[in-house]
Amino acid sequence: MAQPVILTIDDDPAVSRAVARDIRRRYGDRYRVVRADSGPGGLEALREIKLRGERVAVLLADYRMPEMNGIQFLEAAMDLFPAARRVLLTAYADTDAAIDAINVVDLDHYLLKPWHPPEEKLYPVVDTLLEAWAASPDQASDEIRVVGHRWSAPSFAVRDFLARNLVPYRWLLTDDPEGGRLLAAAGADATDVPLVVTPDGKALVAPTEAELAAVAGLTVAPSADFYDVVVVGGGPAGLGAAVYGASEGLRTVLVERRATGGQAGQSSRIENYLGFPDGVSGAQLTDRARRQALKFGAELLSTREVVGLESAGAARLLHFGDGSTIAAHTVVLATGVSYRVLDAPGLADLTGRGVFYGAASTEAPSCVDQDVWIVGGANSAGQAAVHFSRYASRVHLLIRGADLTASMSSYLIQQLDRIDRIVVHPHTEVVGGEGDDHLERLRLRDTRSGDVREVDASWLFIFIGAEPRTEWLDGVLVRDGRGFIVAGPDLTAGGRKPPGWTLDRDPYHLESSLPGVFAAGDVRASSVKRVASAVGEGAMAVALVHRYLEAQ
Ligand SMILES: Cc1cc2nc3c(=O)[nH]c(=O)nc-3n(C[C@H](O)[C@H](O)[C@H](O)COP(=O)(O)OP(=O)(O)OC[C@H]3O[C@@H](n4cnc5c(N)ncnc54)[C@H](O)[C@@H]3O)c2cc1C
Repeated sequence: MAQPVILTIDDDPAVSRAVARDIRRRYGDRYRVVRADSGPGGLEALREIKLRGERVAVLLADYRMPEMNGIQFLEAAMDLFPAARRVLLTAYADTDAAIDAINVVDLDHYLLKPWHPPEEKLYPVVDTLLEAWAASPDQASDEIRVVGHRWSAPSFAVRDFLARNLVPYRWLLTDDPEGGRLLAAAGADATDVPLVVTPDGKALVAPTEAELAAVAGLTVAPSADFYDVVVVGGGPAGLGAAVYGASEGLRTVLVERRATGGQAGQSSRIENYLGFPDGVSGAQLTDRARRQALKFGAELLSTREVVGLESAGAARLLHFGDGSTIAAHTVVLATGVSYRVLDAPGLADLTGRGVFYGAASTEAPSCVDQDVWIVGGANSAGQAAVHFSRYASRVHLLIRGADLTASMSSYLIQQLDRIDRIVVHPHTEVVGGEGDDHLERLRLRDTRSGDVREVDASWLFIFIGAEPRTEWLDGVLVRDGRGFIVAGPDLTAGGRKPPGWTLDRDPYHLESSLPGVFAAGDVRASSVKRVASAVGEGAMAVALVHRYLEAQ
């Protein structure tokens, strides 16, 4: 962490140099001494220091300065660094002003010029002030800081993006004093949120995901324009393919539109993945898989959505949303599935403001001692119920059916039964949501009687199944009626070759109707929707990539 700052400010260059020199001589090994020659210049320096997350221990300001006197400067500086100790340098004639300042800016000390010898007049004063400051220092931060509103969808989107990409950050509300200080330092106000401040002091107002990825150090651009294999999608199947592809010497790039981990990255605890008897969180599994892929030399691109695929002779060409392209001998499509939207009046407007799709793990600590409502009866909803029960006073699980047996694993049903705070509401569906600033009420319908009741609710998490978003592959390769990619033997059922297929051989096991393009994981028609099978298919796709390349 950077050394705390001692800032000296004097408009007379000779005096300014002398103060800074004396301070640096004694404290320069532990503190960074910053010199300014005017009040506005000093405030500008303080704003930069605040944005970089550094601390200010002592401010030494001359009283007589033309644009802004020392008292005015110290008063403004307090808004940015309230814990910094404040010293006014005065001539004997200005002693009265200095005494008045004790009340105005809560002055710690006034120092008469000249201060020589410093061993007698300056250092004992500064020593005492540094001691006092060390007992209650300013907050320092070497993380990304996000300032936003509690109930703001864009603020949530920024936090969710950083959390899913495993980027540490500090979250500050606009009415939190430090949040206000950061806004002031960035010259922004409470309407300019989310404000993202990087550890090196750059302030971004409402950044895009690509901008966030860049400041978080995530790679967004490929280093080459041709690869052996491009993997589309960074869930378990894609990460599996990237690890096996790169470890077997293939030039491999993985392209992810949002954050690696996919659906599994949102799981609070995966208990059925081989080798983790105590379970593993999706975030941990993702972090390990990412590091493993990078170790073997795979490139991982974030915030890049693939929107088109075409053949260019033997090469396969992928189009990104921004119009750029990337080419490869082969492609592994591992784009998984995305949550289906709950179509009930009012919910769309409240998404990100009390209504969330998936586990939204960033929100769990805010649910302490409140009621949480979860829609869905599958394992993902069950896991979320267990997770939120650690925070919420009560977790309501809303399911349409009579019980969970048809949709949830029995180990999870048993876990839910053991937690008193979890209440399962059978035969119940959400038919509406309302609220001004954020979700305040839900309308629930009994699916048997049709009766509708209203409940107070601030938190709704939706897990109502998912669908593949493969519209961009329309007309390029064969998909089933629901959009899942048909691959391998399923393409030749009935003894016929898939449309457009010109090769003598049949498609390999995970190969789509476009030769050299493979489907792995949840996006493949009739796949098993599990982490282990997705990882396994990623590995298997790479073996088939080798077979395809050898035959070329
Ligand atoms: C909350 C939750 C808990 C779960 N718990 C378990 C469990 O305990 N055990 C278990 O076995 N399974 C569990 N599952 C299911 C499991 O997570 C999935 O089966 C698995 O993640 C599928 O992996 P995948 O790589 O095929 O797809 P996904 O995980 O869906 O990943 C697909 C990725 O592709 C990206 N993508 C999509 N389209 C594009 C595009 N056009 N361009 C670039 N990128 C794109 C997406 O952003 C996503 O990151 C759970 C699922 C959820 C949602």
